[in-house]
Amino acid sequence: TFFGGLGGASRKGILIKGSNYMDTLARVGTVVFDKTGTLTRGEFEVTAVHPDDFNETELLHLAAHVEHFSTHPIGEALRTAFPNEATDGCKITDVEEIAGHGIRANVSGCTVCVGNSKMMDAIGVKWNNCHSIGTIIHVAVDGKYVGHVVINDRLKDDSAQAVKSLKRLGVDHMVMLTGDRKEVAFDVAKKLGLDTCYAELMPADKVRYVEQLLATKTENKTLAFVGDGINDAPVLKRADIGIAMGGLGSDAAIEAADVVLMDDQPSKIATAIRIARRTICIAH
Ligand code: ADP
Ligand code: MG
Repeated sequence: TFFGGLGGASRKGILIKGSNYMDTLARVGTVVFDKTGTLTRGEFEVTAVHPDDFNETELLHLAAHVEHFSTHPIGEALRTAFPNEATDGCKITDVEEIAGHGIRANVSGCTVCVGNSKMMDAIGVKWNNCHSIGTIIHVAVDGKYVGHVVINDRLKDDSAQAVKSLKRLGVDHMVMLTGDRKEVAFDVAKKLGLDTCYAELMPADKVRYVEQLLATKTENKTLAFVGDGINDAPVLKRADIGIAMGGLGSDAAIEAADVVLMDDQPSKIATAIRIARRTICIAH
């Protein structure tokens, strides 16, 4: 019957990597979500360009050159702003993606940094505050601030339903952890009715928060983490049960997870818990 449960789950697009996870899954009391790619679509659109130097197209183009080498959903957004040009003859070397910060590269002899305010602080560049709604991507060339690009992601159609279904199953604590800015994070958390949200986190902070939640959770209940990114692999391993997005998810996240949602729908978390509870019942 344990195998029946695994089969039933797989027919619903839920890959559970072993029957030993059924018990943990059945007792989930806390669900911790990553934001980008998990609750939101991970498809950013450029909504504003604010150059300090250059013109708008030049700023966007410069950022796109560097993001061309990124594996992050943010990179994809800036790349698609210039679909056919790629790096059009510019010599780009020394590309380095810095988790939770952004990406840096040498473009035709200049060091170009593209990332958030933390990255600008780390390299000692003064950045302009921005009141637009969205994720802000700052750009600096050779230590000089040249402007920022505002990008926006959208909630997945399924995320509100996911939270509702989990509440109905008695999951009494839902938390979101994200590297994005507070303004964006709180907006998502409020729209979905999540209990708590922590923003502007580095990948290692996510592990620390999950460890704290593990230490304070109700006895006999378990904690699930749901994520998609390379950065989420350590925290997927640390949780009682790790759940990854199968379509959007990075290979590292899929490998680190115990459960994979093939169609990226967060509402399938509730489906998985329901299947696990039924399977446990039948098996005992
Ligand atoms: P999340 O927790 O929302 O999945 P990440 O930890 O992957 O986010 O990234 C956190 C933040 O780091 C992003 O919101 C962005 O500000 C910055 N960042 C990460 N990668 C890039 C990149 N390739 N280009 C620009 N900014 C980036
Ligand atoms: Mg993510």
